Amino acid sequence: MADIIQLLPDHVANQIAAGEVVQRPASVVKELLENAIDANSDSIKLIIKDAGKTLIQVIDNGKGMSATDARLSFERHATSKIKSADDLFQLNTKGFRGEALASIAAIAHVELKTKQDDEELGTTIVIEGSEVKTQEVIVTPKGTSLSVKHLFFNIPARRNFLKSNTVELRHIIDEFHRVALAHPSIAFSMFSNGNETFNLPQSNYRQRIVNIFGNKTNEKLVPVEETTEVLTISGFVGKPEFAKKSRNEQFFFVNNRFIKSAYLNHAINSAFEGLLKDGAQPSYYLNLTVNPQTIDINIHPTKTEIKFDDEHTLYAILRSAVKHSLGQFNIAPVLDFDRDANLDTPYSYEQKGMPSVEVDRSFNPFKDDTPVSKPTAIASPSFKKDTGASWESLYVGLESKGTKTTKDFNEITFESQPENESIFKNENEVETKQTTYQLNNKFIISTIKSGMLVIDQHRAHQRVLYEDFLRHITIKEGVSQQLLFPLELHFSSQEIALINQLKEDLESTGFVFQSIKDATVLISGVPVNVPESEVSIILEQLISDVENEVPDSNFSATDLLAKSMAKSLAIKTGQTLTNPEQEHLVNRLFGCKEPNVSPTNKTTFITMTVDELDKKFM
Ligand code: ADP
Ligand code: MG
Repeated sequence: MADIIQLLPDHVANQIAAGEVVQRPASVVKELLENAIDANSDSIKLIIKDAGKTLIQVIDNGKGMSATDARLSFERHATSKIKSADDLFQLNTKGFRGEALASIAAIAHVELKTKQDDEELGTTIVIEGSEVKTQEVIVTPKGTSLSVKHLFFNIPARRNFLKSNTVELRHIIDEFHRVALAHPSIAFSMFSNGNETFNLPQSNYRQRIVNIFGNKTNEKLVPVEETTEVLTISGFVGKPEFAKKSRNEQFFFVNNRFIKSAYLNHAINSAFEGLLKDGAQPSYYLNLTVNPQTIDINIHPTKTEIKFDDEHTLYAILRSAVKHSLGQFNIAPVLDFDRDANLDTPYSYEQKGMPSVEVDRSFNPFKDDTPVSKPTAIASPSFKKDTGASWESLYVGLESKGTKTTKDFNEITFESQPENESIFKNENEVETKQTTYQLNNKFIISTIKSGMLVIDQHRAHQRVLYEDFLRHITIKEGVSQQLLFPLELHFSSQEIALINQLKEDLESTGFVFQSIKDATVLISGVPVNVPESEVSIILEQLISDVENEVPDSNFSATDLLAKSMAKSLAIKTGQTLTNPEQEHLVNRLFGCKEPNVSPTNKTTFITMTVDELDKKFM
């Protein structure tokens, strides 16, 4: 029998490829705008007629193309942007497939005009359905203009599939927004059927958002900034009270590329938990910068989905950064401390100073006639011995210095360490004034410039421990203390299954499992701050918490583990705290990302301003 396999002619192959690249006019808009950006333009104009069905034109002032390049640009797999597959992991450009122009030219009438800066004359090429009609030398300004007419002229089925002009224009505007938001330093304008619909001058990010979404947007933006080793976040979220039902204003950009991610969207939603009305969607405009080597943008032909190496960590950092911003926004007017920008780095390894609540040191609600100058509990040499197990957990890792892991651990955990030390080194300092008071072995009272702070000690400590654990789990840096004899615990088979499921996260906090067999768990190491006697209680608590919450994925299991351990280990109501213990707790609380609520969303402190107090005395 004769051979039957033949190679498809180029124009057919291009038409097939076009099906992937060009779904609708908006796809052409995206490709052309991205090419203009890749050409280093600083001003880009988009012209649309009949929602792109009649004309899509992009004019840029970028670097243009030589006559040869102009011709080559329409060949399939013709790209100036990558040379080898390795380059895919170093991408700094939008395009890289070299398919867009070839695809577009296969299914439309295309006219290109382009000129490089150092040339007198430019080139114009007309192509219809992959066929070059003309190529000529012309006079044209620096940059490139590409017009796409009669889209899908040779594929009537595709043409008939297009939606109404309103719908197609909506898609085009969405693409335009995405590209314009990702590049505020480039001026963009858009004309539709002869009317200027957008005119966006070069600006900063906030102005770009406002120029696109309207002046009212300005007051609703809450800045989000976070720098860690793996991820930098900058941008804005919308204040909760402005949230609408639509998801129109949700933007993630990764390395200046718009992406969609249900998972990261979930991180934002969970940061807004409890703040939104039912069904309301938070708005966000967030730029994430990661090392290009840690992402793979190549998994989706239209490139709005990307794959991250370590999504869990990004999730945790993003969620915490947004929560922190929202928290700051809520409490900033009440508390009088300036936000320390260094605070924004919970997951980095940099050593940080600890911000503290600005305390009015002369305030003393229980002041009697004697001046407050007697030594406080700070000087008590028996301090360490007095302290209960839970209290030790405030000083995670302080005891065992020297080993390398412990050192790293301290760097991560004890942002406030220098300050801790000064608390304890102050033994001779008799001048130290008392600035916190414990009420009913339950509340810690402290002062701020504008009034008084009442802190729930149990909830506050839960918050502190929760963020510690979450940090340890996320960066897998928990430190364990070896047990002399392994601890043997017994569980049901269902419970064993749960422990197995959480094993990795538990290990990140410092647990070491010697074996998990049948109904018996042998534990040979526990996190440094966890007393051996508490281990079985912690695990039981954890199992019951997990069973009640039925986490459906890893990240909520992590969260649950941190919550559960924090709950088990936090200072209880009824426990007496010395003065330095109180102060330390207060400082650690306000070093938290989200000091105002416990891990289970309960209020950790309230403030009472002098004004409010004055009213009570009227
Ligand atoms: P890709 O962008 O993936 O490289 P395209 O088909 O979109 O593939 O473009 C092919 C090539 O044509 C690009 O690599 C670039 O060199 C050139 N090109 C396309 N548009 C422009 C433009 N507006 N300005 C300068 N060069 C361009
Ligand atoms: Mg391109």
